[in-house]
Amino acid sequence: MYCCNIFFFTYIVLFYLINAIGGVARNSMRNFAFNSFTKLVYSNKFLTNVVNRKLRKMANEEELALANAGKDENGDSIFGKIARKEMKVDLVYEDDKVMAFNDINPQAPVHILVIPKMRDGLTRLSKAENRHKEILGHLMWAVAEIVRQKDLGDFRLVVNNGPEACQSVYYLHLHILAKRQMKWPPAIYAICSYFN
Ligand code: AMP
Repeated sequence: MYCCNIFFFTYIVLFYLINAIGGVARNSMRNFAFNSFTKLVYSNKFLTNVVNRKLRKMANEEELALANAGKDENGDSIFGKIARKEMKVDLVYEDDKVMAFNDINPQAPVHILVIPKMRDGLTRLSKAENRHKEILGHLMWAVAEIVRQKDLGDFRLVVNNGPEACQSVYYLHLHILAKRQMKWPPAIYAICSYFN
């Protein structure tokens, strides 16, 4: 465990050192370092667990609480209240099956959430069954329609599934992120989306 802490610490130091160097050299060095680190860590189950545990510890308490609160997936959800119009949101799009609204904690200049009006067991994407095929297709179509209507150009579509993916609201939702340069791969040093 001690050795893993040193390993993690070395990575953080390297990260800041590389960040201190400017320009193209920095980007290629950073990509190389991240790619090598990712490959190394995720080729080994033990290291994967250690890094995942570390990242979870580093996540702020509110986020952890939210992730844990959603684990049973039995209760109502804040998006249920929004879908039933019991809670006000900044509505962007609505039809008979889905609605879309601005995220209260945007991670990009445009950050829209798209949800089905009925949760119908879809607390997360991995719960999808045969009967959900139509609504899942409709959600994807709605994303394209919103992007067209709002002339968003390029965008990223994100679905967080479960605590390890930092899902905090257990009601299926699609994140549309747009109007800023995204990075790929999503950095493994990121705590959820904050440093992405
Ligand atoms: P996830 O972490 O994928 O479950 O995403 C949940 C998202 O819902 C986060 O980006 C929150 O900022 C967002 N969110 C939570 N409550 C609200 C709300 N009342 N109105 C708009 N967005 C919300």
